[in-house]
Amino acid sequence: MGEKKKKIIKSIKIDLDKCNGCRACEVACSAFHAAPKYSSNNPARSRIRVIHEPLRDVYVPVYAGEYAKAECLGRDKYVIDGKEYDECGFCRASCPSRDIFKEPDSALPLKCDMCEDDPPQEKPLCVQWCLNDALIYEEREEEVEEEVKLEDVEVGMESMIDKYGLETVMDTLARISASKKDEA
Ligand code: SF4
Ligand code: SF4
Repeated sequence: MGEKKKKIIKSIKIDLDKCNGCRACEVACSAFHAAPKYSSNNPARSRIRVIHEPLRDVYVPVYAGEYAKAECLGRDKYVIDGKEYDECGFCRASCPSRDIFKEPDSALPLKCDMCEDDPPQEKPLCVQWCLNDALIYEEREEEVEEEVKLEDVEVGMESMIDKYGLETVMDTLARISASKKDEA
């Protein structure tokens, strides 16, 4: 058992009745996480996606969760107000079965980090820009076991190793690092 420590638990409550599918949350998230910050926006790079079907008229904001190396053995399907949604439609995982929650160029996994970045934000960007108040930010203090937090770069490396194998990734890194040293 790890050591217990006090931790602020951050959560975002989603009020589906208030979401109108404007996708401002997607734009704000992708702009905040662009490098440099706010230099571009592309909803495909957002860590929140609004799932909707034009003919079914329910909008469901879904936050990017953990990277999953393999697909689940089962599938889920939701029926809301009598309208059936796609298989795995509201799953939060960045997994091999679909393109959502992956960087469109590199296919590296995306995960919501609650905008814990510089400059610190009083509320996550998606909450700030949801003018309909469909996203409600909440904080509470809890005693939890100490955990090791993986940075984006570590999650990305893990997914590259899963895809290409450790040896290929190590060889590539060695080659790139040698060429960077030559350039310096
Ligand atoms: S900004 Fe708010 S209302 Fe607009 S799509 Fe996102 S959650 Fe829905
Ligand atoms: S909390 Fe921040 S990182 Fe997470 S979806 Fe909202 S804007 Fe993106």
